[in-house]
Amino acid sequence: MKQEFIFIGPPGSGKGTQTKMLSKDYNLPHIDTGSLLREEISAGTQEGKLANSYMEKGQLVPIELVSGIIKNRLLKSDCQNGFILDGYPRSLEQAYALDTILEEIDKNLDVNPIVFYFEVNPEKLIERLVNRRTCSKCGAIYNLKTMKLQDETKCEKCGGTLLQREDDNEETAKKRFQTYFEQTAPLIDLYKKRGILVKLDASLSIEEIYKNLTGAIKENVYS
Ligand code: AMP
Repeated sequence: MKQEFIFIGPPGSGKGTQTKMLSKDYNLPHIDTGSLLREEISAGTQEGKLANSYMEKGQLVPIELVSGIIKNRLLKSDCQNGFILDGYPRSLEQAYALDTILEEIDKNLDVNPIVFYFEVNPEKLIERLVNRRTCSKCGAIYNLKTMKLQDETKCEKCGGTLLQREDDNEETAKKRFQTYFEQTAPLIDLYKKRGILVKLDASLSIEEIYKNLTGAIKENVYS
């Protein structure tokens, strides 16, 4: 049975950590629009240049660009058994665009996505973002404040270099929150009304959140 999971939550709420774990355990591709856009920026493409001008201001990249990237990605063969969407959709407009994409892709299939909403008090999240570091090699995520690393520049899993994202500075992080509350938060109501929203308490530990997440999948998808 095809499994489609969508993750919504404010920046720094832990979606990346959970979706990477889920992707490994469920053998489903982890599709993270932020990372796909950063890849375009690193490759120096026109799309990357355009995306960067929005990302550095903490704004959403235009829908034509991001929905095109998502559609192409969802059509790849590794999405046949399902996928994990992290960071898309991020606006009502994108949610309706995704409906159209899924109607086309899942034409003859009876499949309903589950939408996980990471609920957390946003006050502590700015601090989390500013202290976030990501391994440039394996993508592991660290928090310099809560995880005491021997060497704050090296990944403990693979030895890769730990980098700080350019938009994880206080000024841009604040703008990203504003964008989230104005444009992404309305999705919670939309998916709640459709009966496919699962709320997760994202203030818990990584292990507890993952237990609740996988528990919800078992109850909702397999029963
Ligand atoms: P993230 O890595 O998810 O925190 O995303 C980083 C930045 O990429 C965001 O602040 C946006 O500028 C851009 N971005 C990521 N996903 C989307 C999306 N679905 N729609 C528009 N812009 C996006």
